[in-house]
Amino acid sequence: MVEIVPEVKKIGEYVVIFTKVYEGPRLVTDADVAVIIEDVEERIFLPRTSTTDFSVYTSKENVVENLSGVYTLIFKSLFKKFKVTIFARTKGKTIKKVLLFERGQTKEEKEPLDIIRTMNVLLGFNVNIDKIIYVDKRLEKLVDRATRKRILQDLIKPRKKIDSVEDVFVGIIDSMKYGGQEWVIENPEVVGWLKGLYKEGLEKETKIGGQVGIISNLLAVLGGSPTIYSPVLSREQAALFRKNVFSVCPGRRPVAECISTEKSKINWVFEFDRTDKLFNIRSKQDGRFIAGSQMEEYRPAWPDINNIDADAIILSGFHLLKKKYKDGSTAKQIIKKTIEWVDGAAKRNIPIHLELTCTEDESLRESITELFYHVDSVGMNESELKQLVKLTDRKATVKDSLAIIKHMKEIADRFGLKRIHVHTLGYYINLYKTGEWVSPENIKKAMAFASDLAAAKAFGDAIEKAEDLRMSDSVSVSDIGLKEQEKLEQNINMKNGITKMNDYTLVFLPTKVVSHPKSTVGLGDIISGSMFVIECGYR
Ligand code: ADP
Repeated sequence: MVEIVPEVKKIGEYVVIFTKVYEGPRLVTDADVAVIIEDVEERIFLPRTSTTDFSVYTSKENVVENLSGVYTLIFKSLFKKFKVTIFARTKGKTIKKVLLFERGQTKEEKEPLDIIRTMNVLLGFNVNIDKIIYVDKRLEKLVDRATRKRILQDLIKPRKKIDSVEDVFVGIIDSMKYGGQEWVIENPEVVGWLKGLYKEGLEKETKIGGQVGIISNLLAVLGGSPTIYSPVLSREQAALFRKNVFSVCPGRRPVAECISTEKSKINWVFEFDRTDKLFNIRSKQDGRFIAGSQMEEYRPAWPDINNIDADAIILSGFHLLKKKYKDGSTAKQIIKKTIEWVDGAAKRNIPIHLELTCTEDESLRESITELFYHVDSVGMNESELKQLVKLTDRKATVKDSLAIIKHMKEIADRFGLKRIHVHTLGYYINLYKTGEWVSPENIKKAMAFASDLAAAKAFGDAIEKAEDLRMSDSVSVSDIGLKEQEKLEQNINMKNGITKMNDYTLVFLPTKVVSHPKSTVGLGDIISGSMFVIECGYR
């Protein structure tokens, strides 16, 4: 990773800025460096200055001199508070650092987008192809009366996995009533039926899916160059990645050079909105039901952590593990191996986040929690939080922010987590160990950025470039979020969205909500993923 290491000094009426550029441990002595000084109070710009190569910024009076790799700028200034923006270009790549100079001290001021662009993020392991299917009357016509009757009966006690076509319908309706879910397809014949369905004119689109696929493509769109690890990577999966996503195979290479299998991992995604109906049962919300295919090969065999260069790691996909594989290995063993790998990353001080997904199987859910003792951070929505708490407390509810916070605290305490994050429709909550993570102000910045991203994506369906973030400007903050904020101010002494809870600090943010979203698939992933990466950048 290339890094700018600056030092600003004020000596009498002169300001001296020393800048060093490092590529890993190596001092770069031939970088092009440009510096912009801005008086924050008066908003006056000093002439832009740079080493000679950075032609856009050259100025005759103030030149950044390269003294064997110490890029030095001296200028006269009476400014008390000013902003210094330093650009460094090496091997065709430009990075930027912003500093605030005030009362003789410098403070780094990073913008979320700058962090995303400079962080080396590794993501593993679930990448799949999402085949999105419309939920409408045409689906009803595919089943006869007897099947319909069975579906309505099965709805009373859903199996939460897919053995038959009936289970697919039960899953869709149950998700319409109680919120989005993902069930595993255990009968291959159902896959055949779903493939046929996709040709019936019910197919909406084919997209990248899985947290790793979704988050890495988003980071790439925003200018980052993330690296993925996926145990299954077909040509069709690889083709859905953005150009600047890399893969470890082993060694960091463009995804297209890392194809490992013919067969793709496919999820069938039934998207619905709150006006949809199936067999006269009305949806209560916008959402989706996912029928996920199972593959023997879809389990991680982590690449050597010592050969990986990462500033942050995001893990996900464990809900897809099978209890037992044909070769005798089990989900428990895979999780144990993952823990060893995570411990290796922790030794190297790389922050690790685990993103959860609803996991219907209780014993698998229990095994996944073993990872909690080893990672720094976990993220989830409120239903996933409820599922977690239900492992020990059958009566758990997540009816409001107070209930959510109570459970977040229990989980953080039980597993000794440094950070836990929950997103809901209307607000996000982060709880982290005081002094062991990031300042609450910077956490709020990360949360606000994630909220803008989610709003822009819900509003416009896709984020194709960084400028699309502006679509969030017209979206207003949720009333639910604002009401919950008031409640917390009255009940837990929260001020400006921040309060202390024993050794933890809580940060709360009411968030933007799009009233008629174009799409909601993957919103939670991009919220959690972007927020964690940005927070890591502030560490
Ligand atoms: P997924 O599993 O599809 O990523 P989650 O259920 O984990 O989804 O998260 C969805 C999150 O997306 C919600 O918690 C909410 O914060 C956000 N979200 C959902 N709908 C909207 C919307 N219309 N506008 C803004 N944010 C939304």
